[in-house]
Amino acid sequence: MKSPSQTTAIDFDSAKLQRLGFGQQPPLLARPVSLAQLRQQMSLQLQTSLEPQRILGLFFREVQRLVPLDALTYVHNDSDLRLEFGARGHHSASYRLSHEGEHMGELVFRRNQRFSEQELGNLESLLSALLYPMRNALLYRAATQSALRDPLTGAGNRIAMEQTLQREIEMSRRHLQPLSLLMLDIDHFKQVNDLHGHSAGDDVLKAVAASIKGQLRNVDMVFRYGGEEFLILLSNTGRDAAAMVGERLRQAAQAQDYYANNRLIELTVSLGCSTLLPGESAESLLRRADSALYVAKREGRNRLTMAG
Ligand code: GH3
Ligand code: MG
Ligand code: MG
Repeated sequence: MKSPSQTTAIDFDSAKLQRLGFGQQPPLLARPVSLAQLRQQMSLQLQTSLEPQRILGLFFREVQRLVPLDALTYVHNDSDLRLEFGARGHHSASYRLSHEGEHMGELVFRRNQRFSEQELGNLESLLSALLYPMRNALLYRAATQSALRDPLTGAGNRIAMEQTLQREIEMSRRHLQPLSLLMLDIDHFKQVNDLHGHSAGDDVLKAVAASIKGQLRNVDMVFRYGGEEFLILLSNTGRDAAAMVGERLRQAAQAQDYYANNRLIELTVSLGCSTLLPGESAESLLRRADSALYVAKREGRNRLTMAG
């Protein structure tokens, strides 16, 4: 068994998981169940969704009728998916999912108590119920995402941003949870193009997008808003927490090494942050973040400004 590796990702989606009904402590069903029964029930249940998050949430809950767990993480880099359920555990068992040679991501089960051989056998057997539902979900995701992504940076495009923002505003209202928005713009980016060429500029844009995503667990909430502007939606995040995230993004962007034609270049970003007001429209929330960003630029760049 390996010990868990440290991660510095920021936990934005735990709130969303709570809303979707996958709390930190999934209720264990008292009724004992055999491996064969559970496998059959799970196969039926997991087929009912095309959302990786929902499928894995159900899987995490149901598996525990047979094998108690503290956490489950799933990573599939090709789909930009990183999902985490539960808390941390000292012991882990990792599995690579593949189907007909196609890599379908890595699953890590974690627990504070060691896994017995029998438990590992059960986990492996139950994984087979996950295979087809996950494959279908990944195919569906790939098909829908190509229409919603910016091809250069892999961030969500404007259509995705508008849809997601609308949905998150509704969620925020319904659940009375805060919602914040960060608008990030690369400082003096025109100079990168002018000094090193457009293609080097493109590489820098990709590196900045990767730096942002590297700091966030929920990469689905990062959008390319304009040429060298990105928008980050922070669900269930109030003003103070959003300020911390914004500052962390600013520092990460500054700390990263950027290369233009193999030469190291200095680069910083500026950010504006707004937090949804009662009854506020998407347009107004965006406008306030944009105004805050404008202030950050005017006051010298490489800084975060909070909307009033
Ligand atoms: P500021 O600090 O005020 O933001 O200055 P800036 O130079 O970053 O801002 P400005 O808006 O003047 O310039 C943005 C530049 O971004 C201009 C445009 O050529 C460049 N740009 C926009 N989209 C792309 C892209 O996809 N690739 C490349 N290489 N450059 C882009
Ligand atoms: Mg700009
Ligand atoms: Mg700029």
